[in-house]
Amino acid sequence: MINFQYVQPTTPQAAIEALTATPTAQFIAGGTNLVDLMKREVMNPEKLVDLNALPYRAIEKAGSGLRIGALALNSAVADHPLIRQYQPLLSQALNAGASAQIRNMATVGGNMMQRTRCYYFYDPAMPCNKREPGSGCGALNGFNRIHAIFGTRDGQSGSPSCIAVHPSDMCVALTALDATVQVTGPKGDRTIPFPDFHRLPGSTPQRDTNLERGELIVAVQIPENRFARNVHYLKVRDRNSYAFALVSVAAALDLDGQTIRAARLAMGGVAHKPWRLLAAEQALQGKTASEATFQQAAAVAMREAKAYEHNAFKLKMAPAAMVEALKVAAGLA
Ligand SMILES: Cc1cc2nc3c(=O)[nH]c(=O)nc-3n(C[C@H](O)[C@H](O)[C@H](O)COP(=O)(O)OP(=O)(O)OC[C@H]3O[C@@H](n4cnc5c(N)ncnc54)[C@H](O)[C@@H]3O)c2cc1C
Ligand code: SF4
Repeated sequence: MINFQYVQPTTPQAAIEALTATPTAQFIAGGTNLVDLMKREVMNPEKLVDLNALPYRAIEKAGSGLRIGALALNSAVADHPLIRQYQPLLSQALNAGASAQIRNMATVGGNMMQRTRCYYFYDPAMPCNKREPGSGCGALNGFNRIHAIFGTRDGQSGSPSCIAVHPSDMCVALTALDATVQVTGPKGDRTIPFPDFHRLPGSTPQRDTNLERGELIVAVQIPENRFARNVHYLKVRDRNSYAFALVSVAAALDLDGQTIRAARLAMGGVAHKPWRLLAAEQALQGKTASEATFQQAAAVAMREAKAYEHNAFKLKMAPAAMVEALKVAAGLA
């Protein structure tokens, strides 16, 4: 790890100025991802701008929805009465992530900004376009068991620049729940719809999100919805705890009897960003909740999927997980 400067500003403006003054500077919140990356010399910031003195910890009602500060701890969000009552899908997704100790350190903003768990990204001896643009993708023709099956067809050369997956569980639920992200930065404040926050790699795989340099996540807002009852977050992983998702599904149903008034469906572990399944949601709307309906929707969702040498198992695992999550959400399992 290289020597670095540490500052703890007390206002957002001072944090933004401290960051933009040093080209390699990074914000730090819980440190559970960034410090690991620094120890391995995958990221080498010369300055850390600690956000913990900023007033961004509140979890509260905002209008008809909920607002969660960027520095709220993952455990505090998961256990908060408002989240458990109105957005239990988010609570389930958070509790499926990491360990209790890490959730007690990790923040909402840090969770959104965590880097991929691709093995090649963590190994500075290997080629990786995300860590070192232009060096190649070690996973493409290497060991790609944990890699993407969606959103990999956008490489301008015909070959994707990066097939890594976004590792967060929380973000899968927030994508399904139509959350928005409030940010502030050198050019002022803006609100980003959650599906537009993370990005596909395209020709700039080093960028995980659409945040501009110096922009700071302030809060996440979840609009009021009718998904307080029939929800389920299903995470399939190598171990039953303390492991990242091979495939995960956030399923939310608004049921009128057994008729699906509306559905929300998103997947994790399958793409460079949390993967919202809009066509499958539309296929569910107005139908009777049943295993056959869920299988049809899963087939619609899988139309765009493409596997690599070692992750073809995800082509079977993903639709099976979707059907199971929807069955549990509907009370059919
Ligand atoms: C062993 C282990 C297992 C894990 N398992 C899971 C899992 O199963 N599921 C899962 O979802 N996660 C898992 N995680 C990841 C964990 O959730 C993240 O490390 C954590 O959420 C990061 O939050 P943090 O506050 O510690 O971020 P930090 O490490 O402090 O920061 C991470 C990044 O976010 C940026 N950042 C932080 N806050 C802001 C902000 N407000 N605005 C802009 N940028 C910001 C930082 O600059 C940095 O680049 C695991 C982690 C470990 C170590
Ligand atoms: S998949 Fe992405 S993160 Fe992994 S080696 Fe390829 S470029 Fe790097």
